[in-house]
Amino acid sequence: SSATPAWAGRLRDIADFPKPGILFKDIMPLLADGPDFAAAIDAMVAPWRDANLQAVMGIESRGFILGAAMARVLGVGFVPVRKPGKLPGKVLRQDYTLEYRTDSIEVHADALPAGARVLVVDDVLATGGTLLAALSLARQLQVEVVGAAVLVELAGLGGRERWTSDVPLLANLVY
Ligand code: 5GP
Repeated sequence: SSATPAWAGRLRDIADFPKPGILFKDIMPLLADGPDFAAAIDAMVAPWRDANLQAVMGIESRGFILGAAMARVLGVGFVPVRKPGKLPGKVLRQDYTLEYRTDSIEVHADALPAGARVLVVDDVLATGGTLLAALSLARQLQVEVVGAAVLVELAGLGGRERWTSDVPLLANLVY
C-alpha cells in the first residue's frame, strides 16, 4: 500500500538464521509491543472486514499468532494448519517441496463445513511454497478461500510470481 507504518520499525533482520546466508525477518519485537502489535493486526484485518468470513486459517506457528488475533478482531473462527502429527483428529495432508526436502502440512478433515469462507494467514511470504500448500489444503477441505494475508512479503524470492491463483494475496509490507 502507501506509506510505511510506524510499527514496521519493530521488525528486524537477523543474519544467518536459521542457517548461513539467510537473512531472517524477525517479527518478535513487534509482537512484544502492545500498541504496535494492535496496529499491525488492525492493518492486516482492514481489507477483510466486509468479506463475510467464517474463519481464519493460520499456518504454524507465527501464522497462529497473527491469524488468531485477526480472527478475534473479526469475530470469526480460527483453524490451525499444522505441521505433521500435531493434530489429534482425522486430518487432510498436503505435501510440498522446499529447497532441499519435502514437508507437509495438515488440517482437521472436519475443521469447517464445505463452502465456508476463509482467509489464509501467515507471517511472511518468501518462496511461496508454504502459502500455496495451505491453499491446496483449503481446496481439499472444500472451503472457499476468499484471500490470503501475510504481514511481510519478501520480494525477489518468487512467492508473488508463484501465486498464480485468482485468490487475492495481500501483504502489508514488501521488502
Ligand atoms: P516460503 O514457503 O514462502 O518460502 O516461506 C514462508 C514460511 O517460512 C512462512 O511460514 C514463514 O513463517 C517462514 N519464513 C521464511 N522466511 C522467513 C523470514 O525471513 N522471517 C519469518 N518470520 N518467517 C520466515
